[in-house]
Amino acid sequence: MYELLKKDGRAKRGRLHTVHGDIETPVFMNVGTAAAIKGAVSTADLQQIGTQVELSNTYHLHVRPGDQVVKKMGGLHKFMVWDKPILTDSGGFQVFSLAGLRKIKEEGVYFQSHIDGHKIFMGPEESMQIQSNLASTIAMAFDECPSSVADRDYMQKSVDRTTRWLKRCKAEMERLNSLPDTINKHQMLFGINQGGIYEDIRVAHADEISKLDLDGYAVGGLAVGESHEDMYRILDEVVPHLPENKPTYLMGVGTPANILEAVDRGVDFFDCVYPSRNGRHGHVYTKHGKLNLFNARFELDDRPIEEGCGCPACQMYSRAYIRHLLKAKEMLGMRLCVLHNLYFYNHLMEEIRDAIDAGRYKEYKEETLRGFETPED
Ligand SMILES: [Zn+2]
Repeated sequence: MYELLKKDGRAKRGRLHTVHGDIETPVFMNVGTAAAIKGAVSTADLQQIGTQVELSNTYHLHVRPGDQVVKKMGGLHKFMVWDKPILTDSGGFQVFSLAGLRKIKEEGVYFQSHIDGHKIFMGPEESMQIQSNLASTIAMAFDECPSSVADRDYMQKSVDRTTRWLKRCKAEMERLNSLPDTINKHQMLFGINQGGIYEDIRVAHADEISKLDLDGYAVGGLAVGESHEDMYRILDEVVPHLPENKPTYLMGVGTPANILEAVDRGVDFFDCVYPSRNGRHGHVYTKHGKLNLFNARFELDDRPIEEGCGCPACQMYSRAYIRHLLKAKEMLGMRLCVLHNLYFYNHLMEEIRDAIDAGRYKEYKEETLRGFETPED
């Protein structure tokens, strides 16, 4: 159940009660694709860097090790030793972006594994069954994620099918949650709004799926190559058509600036691979924008990545040392950068929540965005 604690303009401060504990929103979910955050980050680390929700990918776990293996091991929480909330995506996005030859039919999608090419079928029921086996806290509906530049006619047909699929997901989830051997019988289901950059298709779709009384609603199919202006315009139009008393999740977004803007438009769940991916390449976030630690100017820099940062990297190590590790291709260098970046995002969300609580979100957003544009001394 979601509690809307406070609104500041359109920014929402909420709390989602789950069987794995409460999620304070706005929240940034830390992406652990194959039940691990890339960069040798363990669940013990996640406790330390303020992670509230871990996100795992259904498609990846279905292909390897297999959701039956995870189920036999007691579900994802036991398997990866993480007792807080986990969100699993539906597998749809990976099916459409990663998998080899695929065929979309009314019943679902036929495609080939990107690992060994073997044929797989996934439809709404299969996606729900896999996510039920994984036993995540929140399951995502199986949808088609069409290219944002797909033509209008295709987009409308695709969105209509996604609505039919959503109804099948809901029925299947209810059935699975009632079975005696289901690990998490309180698994929640979020629906996904699609429609590319066509506002009218998106708004009609949002109105329709809102009637289904799901546990939360996501805006999908953004941050896939359209401009930031298009993304903000779509959010301006669509979010008011999603239920305010449910979590609103903007999938796959984004930069700290994107998050600040989306929160201002009523979004309260986020996920993105940027902090871990950038960290693995030595790109670290600070209040004064991103730094590339490979840069020669950090060779003798004895400051932490960011003064005052409470992350395990900044508590102990200098920029010069981390730069050396990165250049020597020591795994520790990568790990420290990923820990810092995830802490930075998690901490940003904490500041966002405090600013909404204090009724000063607009000022906070403007100050923080200005900071990102102002290089450090
Ligand atoms: Zn740090």
